[in-house]
Amino acid sequence: MAKYKVGILLGDDIGLEVVPETVKILREAVKPFAGIDIEWIELPVGMPSYKENGETLPQKTLNTLFDLDGWILGPIGHMAYPKDDPKAINPHPILRREFDLVSNIRPAKSYDSVPSLHKNVDVVIIRENNEGFQPDRNVYKGTGEFMPTSDLAMSVRVITRRNSQMVARSAFELARQRNGKKKVTAIHKNTVFKLGCSLFLDACREIASEYPDVTFETAVVDTFSMQLVMRPQNYDVVVSTNMFGDILTDLAAGLVGGLGMAPGLCVGPKYVMAQATHGSAPDIAGKQIANPYAMIMSGQMMLSWLGNLKQDEEAVKAAANIKKAVEEILTEGVNVTPDLGGKASTSQMGDAICRILSRN
Ligand code: ATP
Repeated sequence: MAKYKVGILLGDDIGLEVVPETVKILREAVKPFAGIDIEWIELPVGMPSYKENGETLPQKTLNTLFDLDGWILGPIGHMAYPKDDPKAINPHPILRREFDLVSNIRPAKSYDSVPSLHKNVDVVIIRENNEGFQPDRNVYKGTGEFMPTSDLAMSVRVITRRNSQMVARSAFELARQRNGKKKVTAIHKNTVFKLGCSLFLDACREIASEYPDVTFETAVVDTFSMQLVMRPQNYDVVVSTNMFGDILTDLAAGLVGGLGMAPGLCVGPKYVMAQATHGSAPDIAGKQIANPYAMIMSGQMMLSWLGNLKQDEEAVKAAANIKKAVEEILTEGVNVTPDLGGKASTSQMGDAICRILSRN
């Protein structure tokens, strides 16, 4: 019997709508498999936690996560947190750093039935998660930004060989496993960032030499952005430093139907966190119109990743069944949310996916 301990962190705003659908679907997907035992543990985070416990990331939540195999993190609306309270922190950078979640894996896939700018897109962007220009996570204490005078702001960009090699390895492993072009494209701007981007590329090349069966190419970020908009079908797995990846993953989501279609998985050597690319979307919260696809597929990726890690074929199969059920719903195009052209609510879309799964 394969046992898993999985956390549920609802997050803010639409997190309260899309995360329960994800859990519901994962529960339904594992039902037919006697060998899978998932213990679900709900933990406070975000604004609901702040209201109840006075903290957006209670120590109890952090401590418990260390005992889990993985967790689902709903979107976090940290821009609405009180600015003057140190207990109202943005949990993202802490979770990503504390648990060494270096690789952020973000697929962008088009479906014929979903309105999108391009068809036949199936690209995965892997973004380094814990350094780069992101000032809230790139130094040990304080932030990587400072203002020596009121008219001068400086931001530090951190690139390490370790993290670059780790994201590169995630990219090559994925390219090898996927039924795709078996190609990794590393994104850089070494014409300007002569040290940082060159170190990143150097690390990617080192890892590439271990994967002779995978094609390796490099692309300058500005040219690549144009090519991704024009011919996204040319790419398979893309690996990037943090900020370039942050921007490119939203761009890629825009190519295939928007942020509701952009799942994500944060992976480290020991832990995994399912986290959709989108934010907490306060503009549509509480209306049951949020598209749960991104969150559901993030959970699906987590189950598949855990199954592969524990060599648990049943978990991998259960994850594959979720993918098939979601694709069936998208193809029918009826039980889907308004952004996908349907009239279903968030939970009706979740229910429809469960109904397909219950046939297995
Ligand atoms: P963050 O900076 O925290 O990532 P953001 O500024 O990118 O957040 P989002 O909260 O992701 O903003 O929302 C951007 C737009 O996309 C909003 O109009 C929002 O309603 C829409 N959106 C985001 N997620 C979804 C979803 N799951 N379903 C439908 N629309 C969504």
